[in-house]
Amino acid sequence: MPSQLTTLSQSSLQDYVDCARRFQLRYVDRLAYPAIESEPALENEKHLQEGEYFHRLVQQYLIGIPAEQIAKLANTVNLQRWWENFINSRDLAGLRNLPGLYAEATLSAPLGNFRLLAKYDLIAIQDNRAIIHDWKTYRKRPRNEWLAVRMQTRVYRALLVRAGAHLNGGKSFEPEQIEMDYWFSEYPDDPARFTYTTVQYKRDWDTLVKLADEIQNASSYPLTDDRTKCSYCPYRSYCDRGVRAGDVEQAEAETEAEELFDVNFEQIGEIAF
Ligand code: SF4
Repeated sequence: MPSQLTTLSQSSLQDYVDCARRFQLRYVDRLAYPAIESEPALENEKHLQEGEYFHRLVQQYLIGIPAEQIAKLANTVNLQRWWENFINSRDLAGLRNLPGLYAEATLSAPLGNFRLLAKYDLIAIQDNRAIIHDWKTYRKRPRNEWLAVRMQTRVYRALLVRAGAHLNGGKSFEPEQIEMDYWFSEYPDDPARFTYTTVQYKRDWDTLVKLADEIQNASSYPLTDDRTKCSYCPYRSYCDRGVRAGDVEQAEAETEAEELFDVNFEQIGEIAF
């Protein structure tokens, strides 16, 4: 049992589901990533920093900073393009005029012996519905089928049911009131939208409880059998699964790689708790 581990998040659960060994290295042993040596990895890191900065620009916009002022801060080619895509998206740019906006909201709830924690880019309460907005700066647009089963999609919606009553006048949201929208800064006209049902919520929460229980009682952390998961994994050198990043030409594999290197706000919160 990982005694010092007290919180779980969509990232740590995704790691556990993808590869228990990666979960161990990252969250139980808390090993820093091995040094980034190759050019693609450095490029990847720059892309992720821009992604994090873009999130900050949107947050500033949502709290009321004028768009022209923010545009000046979008000072790289990528940031400029993403920002223009955002501001030209009528649905999103108009969001900040709504009353019930919760940007960078953190929710948490007990899950087995852990606390489940999530930081949301934005929760917008509108017409008796709660829309979870998540901005993605992925280079490639993943398939909806892939997104639908990601831990983020499952955890964010389930946790809003579980821990979002204070955003709904003290009453828990019904799953049917909830939707999760991913907006892709490189594909602004092709968002992914996931509604929710009570049946899905029950299935998700049962899965989360089962995973928390498994993690609580884990005595070993086997390496994944699916070697495609290793292609971009930063811990390859610990597992004797190759030193160089793979050449998997697959949108999902590359997207997973972007997520893997991403030390996001959520993880920082996780460590601070
Ligand atoms: S290299 Fe492969 S086996 Fe090792 S932690 Fe990464 S995904 Fe798991």
